[in-house]
Amino acid sequence: MSGGEAELIRTYFRGMTASQEGVVLGVGDDAALLRPRPQRWLAASCDTLIGGVHFPEDAPPEAVGHRGLAVNLSDMSAMGAAPAWALLSLTLPEEDPAWLDGFSRGFAALADGHGVALVGGDTTRGSLSITVTVLGHVAEHGALCRGGARPGDGIWVTGTLGDAARGLECWRTGPHPLTGDAAWLAGRLLRPEPRVAAGRALAGTATAAIDLSDGLALDLSRLLGESGAGATLDLDALPASDAFRAADGEVRHMLHGGDDYELCFTLPPAAEGGIGEIQRSAGVAMTRIGTVDAEPGLRGRAGGAVRTVEPRGYDHFGGTR
Ligand code: ADP
Ligand code: MG
Repeated sequence: MSGGEAELIRTYFRGMTASQEGVVLGVGDDAALLRPRPQRWLAASCDTLIGGVHFPEDAPPEAVGHRGLAVNLSDMSAMGAAPAWALLSLTLPEEDPAWLDGFSRGFAALADGHGVALVGGDTTRGSLSITVTVLGHVAEHGALCRGGARPGDGIWVTGTLGDAARGLECWRTGPHPLTGDAAWLAGRLLRPEPRVAAGRALAGTATAAIDLSDGLALDLSRLLGESGAGATLDLDALPASDAFRAADGEVRHMLHGGDDYELCFTLPPAAEGGIGEIQRSAGVAMTRIGTVDAEPGLRGRAGGAVRTVEPRGYDHFGGTR
């Protein structure tokens, strides 16, 4: 590493080793030293964001910093884990102080909000790419996995669907700066709020969970595949925000649009009575959108008619996937 890179790490990232418990040694040595909590399993996940692929290249740097961490915290939430530590591998085309300042502020604000300490990373030159690794704690045998859904379980989602997909269209068509509903929808794309409290509240009660990164139809199909089951969705029940309705959002955004970073989970009928309390402790609304079936595949019911729902996601920057 060059002297310039050491300076860069000191300036922008060293201060972020917050006083998170369990950090024996943070940024600055050859490796971090961490003390996991007793009687807990560690959940570990890693995600890479590439400029122009996973976020618009002209996105505000503070939003890129937020999003780089948010997508990983979302994975933690889908496991019912409490995030504790993060590592950041940053590849930058050039040292741009204004960009780095915005990026590190966005990252730090979300990290602080969730008590996550940045304990290490790597810094290199190349096309813009951000890889974040997050480690978190989960009770032994208490993680939310994809494979536990059973026929008869209800299918639920947190928050609202389709906002990010509609928001990307607004971001692309402008005019900038966006205002009103368009600005709010684009904010849902650029600054997703990971549902960490919801995941923790659901651990021990939900039978399966997944976070919605590639769209409901594709991600739910992954969960069902792991569970060896199928499902019928109530398309009229999919939760939409007021801004989404006002901006003429469509069912396709909600089913196949990615980047919502809401949680989709399954609950046995006996657990439905407790959903009010779970929503209160999670601080987010939860909506029942369908039922797990023994028959494989995904179906959607709308106005009495049932049709097949393709497990197709939407790649915002390169067509369908
Ligand atoms: P090495 O050459 O041993 O990999 P580096 O010089 O890359 O070490 O990094 C020095 C220290 O700075 C290490 O503790 C590393 O974890 C940390 N670090 C490097 N880049 C980042 C970054 N982008 N964010 C946080 N910590 C970083
Ligand atoms: Mg290194």
